[in-house]
Amino acid sequence: MKIFNTLSRKIEKFEPISPPSVGIYTCGPTVYSRAHIGNLRTFISTDILKRTLNFLGYEVNHVMNITDVDDKIIKESKGEKNKQKEITQKYEKLFFDDLKELNIEIPEKTPRATENIEKMVEMIKKMLESGYAYKTEDGIYFSIQKSKNYGQLAGLKNISGVKSTVKNDKYEKDSQQDFALWKFYNKEDNEIYWDTYIGKGRPGWHIECSAMSTKCLGESFDIHTGGTDLIFPHHTNEIAQSEAVSGKHFVKYWVHGGFLNIKENTSAEAEKMSKSIGNVITLDTLKEKNINPLSYRYLTLTSHYRSEMNFSWEALIGAQSALEKLFNFYNEFGKNIGKVDKKYVSEFKKLLENDLAIPEIIALTWKLIKDDSVSDADKKATLLEFDKVFGLGLSELKKEEIPREIIVLAEAREIARKNKEWEKADEIRKKIEILGYELKDSKDGFNILKK
Ligand SMILES: [Zn+2]
Repeated sequence: MKIFNTLSRKIEKFEPISPPSVGIYTCGPTVYSRAHIGNLRTFISTDILKRTLNFLGYEVNHVMNITDVDDKIIKESKGEKNKQKEITQKYEKLFFDDLKELNIEIPEKTPRATENIEKMVEMIKKMLESGYAYKTEDGIYFSIQKSKNYGQLAGLKNISGVKSTVKNDKYEKDSQQDFALWKFYNKEDNEIYWDTYIGKGRPGWHIECSAMSTKCLGESFDIHTGGTDLIFPHHTNEIAQSEAVSGKHFVKYWVHGGFLNIKENTSAEAEKMSKSIGNVITLDTLKEKNINPLSYRYLTLTSHYRSEMNFSWEALIGAQSALEKLFNFYNEFGKNIGKVDKKYVSEFKKLLENDLAIPEIIALTWKLIKDDSVSDADKKATLLEFDKVFGLGLSELKKEEIPREIIVLAEAREIARKNKEWEKADEIRKKIEILGYELKDSKDGFNILKK
């Protein structure tokens, strides 16, 4: 397989450190508010990557953290421990519900930051000892001057051009660009602190991911994913800290998903979806509009994972109708599941291995559906194979229960047809249509479809 690596800015051959195992780390949610569909796109992309690797025979160990302590959570809970727990548990559950609704496989491990403080403290202690970190009045900072390749991931040539990474903070640092590893306790933190041998306080965000990824996957692992907005400073700082502690190359492949831009109306400029702009759409917004969350999953498959994607309601409604069509075709192909079509699956694999060319595979899917040279039963088997990666839930698709009344009518029409009572047959067909169903005649009788 070939995949684009942000670190080299090239499409590279994928060679895991110890095949067939593959370790993947994903920056998970900060659980103080609902995830929006822009965040969720990134998680769908990682899910597609994971399913692809499993399809190609790798054994994936996927780790995604839960950030359950940070400035916003402390502010929101006024530093009260019970309130913090209440907020983070609520949004963590909503987040996992969202993943389920989008058919995103739950990662093998989902460590919480607050349960891994010890590892963070251990890493910070090492950096203090080796001189990568220094203490001030208000915290412990990482000195980016000490870091050899700082900014390589973000393509930064000169660190003097790096903007301060903690924008509106009041912390004191040697250099504007240095970032906090540990923030010493202040009274606004109220009950939220850890009393440790590096001081009383709490971790910075970046060290959380370095600690949890290292703890679960080792000092060097295969793939780190996240949205492009995390390249700098978050992932850049993760590399600096992790490599300062281990002296080893941290991550082999950095895979970043493109942003989702939203247009509320055609005249407005496409804007990145973010909480600060206030154009946030969640899965609840979709459901209020009778849109199946899987239609959104389908929509994301029509853009390459690295491309920016412009969201519009028209496009989403289009995706919903395409998905319904796909489900209908799948049902219409009958009960029997035949053999996987080798030619189509080999083309499918070729496209997957080429930096996950999913939009091309969507086109291939429609070609297969319309291909008369493949039997319906074999189409079904092949679609199920594709869906191992798409994750649209074809295998769980239940045939819509057709009411008894409709079946009786359809059978009566069949008898009328056999008796060449065309007028009567037509009348019954119209009645069935009024009741919301459609009849399709086939070689061995008829199919009833919900309209
Ligand atoms: Zn992270």
